Amino acid sequence: MKPEKREYDAVVVGSGPNGLAAAILLQQNGLSVLLIEGKDTIGGGLRSEELTLPGYLRDVCSAIHPLAAASPYFETLPLSAHGLEYIYPEIDAAHPFDNGTAAILRKSVNETAALLGSDEQSYRNLLQPVVSDWPSMAADVLGPLHFPKHPLTMARFGLTALRSAASVAGRFKTEEAKGLFAGMAAHGMQPLTNISTAAIALVLMTTGHLKGWPIPRGGSKQIANALASYFISLGGKIETNTYIKSLDQLPSSHAVLFDIGPRQLLHIAGHRFSTLYKWQLQHYRYGMGVFKIDWALDGPIPFTANECSHAGTVHIGNTFSEILNAEQSTWNGAHPEKPFVLLAQQSLFDPSRAPKGKHIAWAYCHVPNGSTKDMTEAIEKQVERFAPGFRDRILAKHVMNTAQIEQYNPNYIGGDINGGVIDLAQLFSRPALRWSPYRTSAKGIYICSSSTPPGGGVHGMCGYHAAKRALKDIFSIRIESLD
Ligand SMILES: Cc1cc2nc3c(=O)[nH]c(=O)nc-3n(C[C@H](O)[C@H](O)[C@H](O)COP(=O)(O)OP(=O)(O)OC[C@H]3O[C@@H](n4cnc5c(N)ncnc54)[C@H](O)[C@@H]3O)c2cc1C
Repeated sequence: MKPEKREYDAVVVGSGPNGLAAAILLQQNGLSVLLIEGKDTIGGGLRSEELTLPGYLRDVCSAIHPLAAASPYFETLPLSAHGLEYIYPEIDAAHPFDNGTAAILRKSVNETAALLGSDEQSYRNLLQPVVSDWPSMAADVLGPLHFPKHPLTMARFGLTALRSAASVAGRFKTEEAKGLFAGMAAHGMQPLTNISTAAIALVLMTTGHLKGWPIPRGGSKQIANALASYFISLGGKIETNTYIKSLDQLPSSHAVLFDIGPRQLLHIAGHRFSTLYKWQLQHYRYGMGVFKIDWALDGPIPFTANECSHAGTVHIGNTFSEILNAEQSTWNGAHPEKPFVLLAQQSLFDPSRAPKGKHIAWAYCHVPNGSTKDMTEAIEKQVERFAPGFRDRILAKHVMNTAQIEQYNPNYIGGDINGGVIDLAQLFSRPALRWSPYRTSAKGIYICSSSTPPGGGVHGMCGYHAAKRALKDIFSIRIESLD
């Protein structure tokens, strides 16, 4: 039974992928929903703008979308009918080495394994079971802590995933396989010796094998545009340019879902929370930040290893031990001379991103939380190391340090793009250890950002689970599980 009438049934604050996902699920269930965004455009981490030179369309935040393509919720939505087209680079990700070779992540497990020499069988043994089990466990892995639908499958995954990346990489003999695995695990922004850091590598490699690592034609903003277009087609309303600082600014509703981090939530709604919940939010931990750079280029990046020129994503960090050391020293508060660099080259596959014959590239490296050090030189040196002549192709660049990233989006505290450390303690219980991490201690107020399970990345699953919770709590509507 629906509660008495208010201006809206539900209000969602923040239009990142999680806010959009939450708003859509609520609207799909017959509620009237208002989505409020502080900036003049929607999208959160899904925005694309010309910031280097006219005609060069760069992704301000996210660029590569294995998690969106593999999202159990986004997969149910008619996003292609609303204008979203994914482009699949020939090679998902490449990982160059000093000797001029590169390891690569290809669509199939066998094709990837076949290029790993004496680690061919070890790679198959590690990845094939996860790839086979993924369809039945994706919704369990990408959700809050609960009794899994397929306990044996989850237990099998957990046995490997909960180990450190360093220990799982120990199964490999070759630098190629070890380096490839390290580059994947380093997306988790933690020392590779931390427990559960193998999980992020396994998930990213598995989604690559099953769905690919696509880029949206026309920029990441096209994912947000498609989600918003579908939401509006269902009758949803969007209001931009409305930055919420107090609950008093909101129209009346039965439920409010915040696509924001714990710090902002405390500021806006702290007076409604219990002492314990406030304490929990105050003690929520943030991790490393990122230093981001976008280039307008006179031509493609001249990588020595040919495979890199066919890959959407390039992981630049050389060997396992080099990446391990770079991530550990960043975690300890230092700025490594040779940082691990994540690089995307969208215009190689999407000509709409740059004028004919010209290119864009997008990259970031990890830095200590809150760092304002300019890492341009260190990042460009790393790219030049594997692509001599790269610097000569730079026409213009745009950089953002962690303070500028946080200023751009208050969810990225100290430049932490995952909405808080994703270690074992905060994996399923973010932002607080509660029966449901999406429900705050105040009735009708929910949190749905990447500071809730399953954490950072463009997949919308935090928003989906928060909206599912609110539908049950406030509107007595039960949603079937996604698998
Ligand atoms: C440099 C960078 C690179 C990244 N690369 C990738 C990638 O390649 N692939 C990937 O999957 N992920 C990537 N990410 C991470 C991804 O962008 C985030 O995990 C994701 O966007 C989080 O989604 P969200 O909905 O939780 O929040 P956000 O996307 O942060 O959206 C929150 C929204 O809320 C709005 N907002 C905040 N406060 C208020 C307020 N008080 N009132 C009104 N509105 C408010 C913000 O303006 C924003 O629009 C990257 C992030 C960054 C910064």
